[in-house]
Amino acid sequence: MAGGITLPHSEVLRIVGVRKRYGQVQAVDGIHLTIEPGGIFGLLGPNGAGKTTTLEMIEGLRRPDEGEIRYGEWDLQHHQKVARERFGVQLQTSAFFELLRVEETIDLFASFYARTLPREELIERFELQEKRTAYVQNLSGGQRQRLAVAVALVNDPEVVFLDEPTAGLDPQARRNVWDAVRHLRDEGRTVVLTTHYMDEAEALCDRLAVMDHGHILDEGSPQELIQRHQPGAMIEMDPSVPIPDDLQLPALERIQRDAIATALVTQKLDETLAGLANWAHEREVPLTGLRTRTATLEDVFLHLTGRSLRD
Ligand code: ATP
Repeated sequence: MAGGITLPHSEVLRIVGVRKRYGQVQAVDGIHLTIEPGGIFGLLGPNGAGKTTTLEMIEGLRRPDEGEIRYGEWDLQHHQKVARERFGVQLQTSAFFELLRVEETIDLFASFYARTLPREELIERFELQEKRTAYVQNLSGGQRQRLAVAVALVNDPEVVFLDEPTAGLDPQARRNVWDAVRHLRDEGRTVVLTTHYMDEAEALCDRLAVMDHGHILDEGSPQELIQRHQPGAMIEMDPSVPIPDDLQLPALERIQRDAIATALVTQKLDETLAGLANWAHEREVPLTGLRTRTATLEDVFLHLTGRSLRD
């Protein structure tokens, strides 16, 4: 990069056999993960899956009951300074002081570190120029979220952790945060984020771990996960269409049902669709809401857990 700026050089993060229990709840149940440097890694799962607890243990904010977290050659339990200096953590926006201005908020967090990025660079990058003297309490949801990512970058970290970075944002504000996250990756940082939005995971993450009940169910790129768990196409219709469980159609692999649709999973869309049309015509069954689509991560989640994330 021009101007003598050195690109951050991150190391491999290894999570080895990590467990965390709160009272009766086994929040994280012996997970293993390897996060290679320089991409966007997502932990995808429903509320309560253990994503935040996992993130907080990697960040050094919570101590695992068991297991090891390594960053390059360092065991972070014994080298907490490494995490403090090289990791950037996005705080919940509720952790900000409402009566501090945007500039003052950045300065406050910068004061915790010896090495920081210039405040102006952060303000410009996250398009907060017009809000630099505004009180935090007067920011929109999207502006708060951008400030939260700016603050996570204040120590010029190698790895940036974002917990549900777009929760509650409108579509335009979400896209702005996605662009900011991609920019972090493109300048060489590693990004580790949690999300329960399938479209976000698919659009943003280079690699994903699907989490549920404290376990990692599978890991891979969004395309790999889809290929592995749900190759082929789906013929969907409204759940009210009386499709029997033992329906026999050419190339039909299985029937998947949730509150929104009944889906026929097939490797040969044209053959199954033609068979379905004949079957419905002979019985005079209206195929209400008929549509076809290729599989998504939502289907992967349903296949792995038997539940839909959108329920
Ligand atoms: P969410 O998106 O809702 O935050 P999550 O996937 O991030 O979900 P965690 O917040 O890690 O999941 O929670 C995992 C489990 O541990 C949940 O059952 C939760 O209720 C429980 N839990 C989390 N933090 C605590 C705590 N401080 N004390 C007791 N139980 C907790």
